[in-house]
Amino acid sequence: MRRTLTALASLIFLAAPAMAQQDLSKVEIKVERLAPGVAVLFGAGGNIGLSYGEDGNAVVDDQFAPLTDKILAAIRTLDPDPVRFVINTHWHFDHSGGNENLGKRGAVIVAHHNVRARMSTPQFLAAMNMKIEPSPKDALPVVTFDDGVTLHLNGDTLHAIHVHNAHTDGDSLVHWQKANVLHMGDTFFHRDSFPFVDLSSGGSIDGVIAAAAKGVEMSNSATRIIPGHGPVASRADLMAYHAMLVDIRAKVAAGMKARRTLVQIKASAPAAHYGMPDGFIKPDAFVEAVYNSLKNPPSRRAFDPALNIMGTGKQSGEPHAH
Ligand SMILES: [Zn+2]
Repeated sequence: MRRTLTALASLIFLAAPAMAQQDLSKVEIKVERLAPGVAVLFGAGGNIGLSYGEDGNAVVDDQFAPLTDKILAAIRTLDPDPVRFVINTHWHFDHSGGNENLGKRGAVIVAHHNVRARMSTPQFLAAMNMKIEPSPKDALPVVTFDDGVTLHLNGDTLHAIHVHNAHTDGDSLVHWQKANVLHMGDTFFHRDSFPFVDLSSGGSIDGVIAAAAKGVEMSNSATRIIPGHGPVASRADLMAYHAMLVDIRAKVAAGMKARRTLVQIKASAPAAHYGMPDGFIKPDAFVEAVYNSLKNPPSRRAFDPALNIMGTGKQSGEPHAH
């Protein structure tokens, strides 16, 4: 029952109005090859990056549990082997919903410490007014990291790099060094919607801007960039997204400095220039998230692997103690 509700909630959570009508049983998984041994899978939920070849398959994110069989069937069109590794870009259930199925089938799940910490404990997504129960053991990452981890697989080097307090407090960017592919997770919403900044999961506008800048720094004009949601993008697309975020943040900050209220700042429509009036995150909702993020910047959470809990008290920028 809980899973059914979660799936329903997920559809509402993720979706553009057209998608909200959609039933997961009708979802088709579409495969787009990006480079030899690298593909992206589109279905419902976060985009899936795939490394395939002689060493086995690794996926970056895995959408929703009811889609696992279809995702595996799509992968088999490229490579018959099972999924050996899952990297989660962050904890949200439209990116990690397939973890339990894949974990039970033997995949090693890898993510930032805070992904495991949030998936192990009850969560509340304030922006959606949604409570989320802890995930079962098989769904949890078994390899967790602080700054990053590297997989040597299928003739390529995959770097998962943690970016602080961005979409959440557990985001990673995943870079295929040789294939020149970069998965941005939900630090990058490409087209149709302003980004969702999950303040209740330790996200911040400044972290999303820094993540976009990091993605620009890690890429070149030939890089194929997989956003968390939306079609495959180029470095120029990511630069335009970064510039949009910087512009809107500056306008909101200027309004706050001039002691305008949130209502007044919204009325000045700092995001209107960019369109996307009907996206999953509408212009006003984004402006409100930027305002709240600047008003209450998150403190960086220290993670204690022994206790599997996050403490508070360390501010971002402070030295990182182990
Ligand atoms: Zn997300």
